[in-house]
Amino acid sequence: MIFRQLFDPQSSTYTYLLADPASRDALLIDPVFEQARRDVALIEELGLKLRWTLETHVHADHVTGAWMLKEKLGSRIAISGASGAQGADRYLKDGERVELGRRHVEARATPGHTSGCMTFVLDDRSMAFTGDALLIRGCGRTDFQQGDPQTLFRSVRGRIFSLPESCTLFPGHDYRGLTATSVAEEKLYNPRLAESILEQDFVGYMQHLGLPHPKQMELAVPANLKCGRPEKTTTQNPDWAP
Ligand code: FE
Repeated sequence: MIFRQLFDPQSSTYTYLLADPASRDALLIDPVFEQARRDVALIEELGLKLRWTLETHVHADHVTGAWMLKEKLGSRIAISGASGAQGADRYLKDGERVELGRRHVEARATPGHTSGCMTFVLDDRSMAFTGDALLIRGCGRTDFQQGDPQTLFRSVRGRIFSLPESCTLFPGHDYRGLTATSVAEEKLYNPRLAESILEQDFVGYMQHLGLPHPKQMELAVPANLKCGRPEKTTTQNPDWAP
């Protein structure tokens, strides 16, 4: 499997490139609008065909590059049917597969940060992409976008911690410079969700985080509900003109 972990420094978002080396079919998980040019260049340099962009959820902190990549490379946009987003080519349900040459990723519903959150699991269960459901030693907030701490707790325990302990987990963000973790590590060391922590304690903790809303939220959520398609009335950077 061809694999790259890409980073957007402004929003601390990770984007993941996965490709089948035999067919050259590729997908991107959680592309960022401002990084579309970088992603297109890399895909072309590696001789890949971008088949899909997958969204782990409707993000509040950055605009997705899904629409821009579709314009530039003809990729199709996939997101959970529970996301409420318009303009996708495919609305994923729990357990569905996204094919990638001879390989595939499984879409697992892991709601709680938002109601449409999905974790994408590689076919051999060696890697999973958790979005903001599970971060390295943390998790996504649950205080807006239909967030619900009890739902998140059950998603992580039932749908992510049930993967093999050796499964490498790749989060949607990291703010401290860490890049990946494993099921075994998070079961032991996640301060919110480790196996030693009770559901009621997690719920109480999450209800009292008191975080300010993300700076980009007013811009990002409406744009992401259209899969990153810009408003016609907005002045576009000419570099992005399709
Ligand atoms: Fe998020």
